[in-house]
Amino acid sequence: MHEETLRSVVVLGSTGSIGTQALDVIAANPGGFKVTALAAGGGRVELLARQAAQFGVEAVAVADASAVPALKDALAAHGAKPTVLGGPDGVAEVAGWQCDVVLNGITGALGLTSTLVALEAGRALALANKESLIIGGPLVKRLARPGQILPVDSEHSAVLQCLWAAGPDGYDPSSVKQLVITASGGPFRGMKREEMAGVTPQMALAHPTWSMGPYITINSANLVNKGLEVIEAHLLYDLGFDRIEVVVHPQSIIHSMVEYVDGSTIAQASPPDMRLPIALALGHPGRIPGAARPLDWTKAHTWTFEPLDDLAFPAVALARHVGTEGGTAPAVYNAANEVCLDAFLERGLPFLSIVDTVAKVVQEHQVTPADTVEEVLAADAWARARAAELTAGQSR
Ligand code: MG
Repeated sequence: MHEETLRSVVVLGSTGSIGTQALDVIAANPGGFKVTALAAGGGRVELLARQAAQFGVEAVAVADASAVPALKDALAAHGAKPTVLGGPDGVAEVAGWQCDVVLNGITGALGLTSTLVALEAGRALALANKESLIIGGPLVKRLARPGQILPVDSEHSAVLQCLWAAGPDGYDPSSVKQLVITASGGPFRGMKREEMAGVTPQMALAHPTWSMGPYITINSANLVNKGLEVIEAHLLYDLGFDRIEVVVHPQSIIHSMVEYVDGSTIAQASPPDMRLPIALALGHPGRIPGAARPLDWTKAHTWTFEPLDDLAFPAVALARHVGTEGGTAPAVYNAANEVCLDAFLERGLPFLSIVDTVAKVVQEHQVTPADTVEEVLAADAWARARAAELTAGQSR
């Protein structure tokens, strides 16, 4: 391929689970992509420096500015000489770096600024940082052109592919009856609430089908992630919460479905592998040959589906509630959850107290519009402080 056909990519969160897999996809397609800049938290400077050298990037940023000296040493050791930036402003500068596609693989609410910067710069946004869309809600939607956000979430990527079946004229919401978002059910599928009382981080981190970062793995164990994904689907596809169903599908082969008004349901199927949604978002609207392993039809398969147990896993119903309330409510749900997640992983908060605390914080919150970054961040900060108060001293 000629140089001018290369699609240039900026990868944010390059040392995390999504970032490393995105770079795998890019490395396997040297004729299709080039990486112009990278950003990461700063905890893995050696890996970041190696990535910078491998892809010959123009700029590298670390969110933790104190990691800059170690990063510079590591870059020198690899013979790489990119522009080095530090702190949240440095990450934001990289988010606006010249490119065709920004992949936002930052974890959590911290990714909001990068999402806004990339959208304002007019880049295609391959969005793995669902939190920024969910907490930014109207703010993010106002900035985004139709189709500018390409979901890097297996369910939403599946919905997008199923919507292509809507016809040659494109997506017509009136032809869609409902979206059916699948959930693996996580490691505690089939358990009753009281059976999950003694769950430890080690148990919650053992996801049966997906290999992911620690935050999203815990969020998948208590279905908070599915709650976030219901809100994400609502924002991406402009359908009411009454038209977004969740179904448990333990094999994680069907990644979601679209049911049309005529009774036809289109499903997207593939083995669980994030490289597929990553490749679809980076290569959109084209498909990247060999991006992921396909299903093996020489073997027998059994795919099962079951309804979600809302009593054992109340996080999805709670997400529908905050999504319907809108404004700052989704930001509060997300922020309280991030604090509880840290408390579960590091300070011994009981597993069931994660969603119980999120529900309490949501209930106490006075919802206001989320039309500016300041309003979103104020609600986020309030929810973090309140969740920290409520979880202080709780232990397993
Ligand atoms: Mg997902």
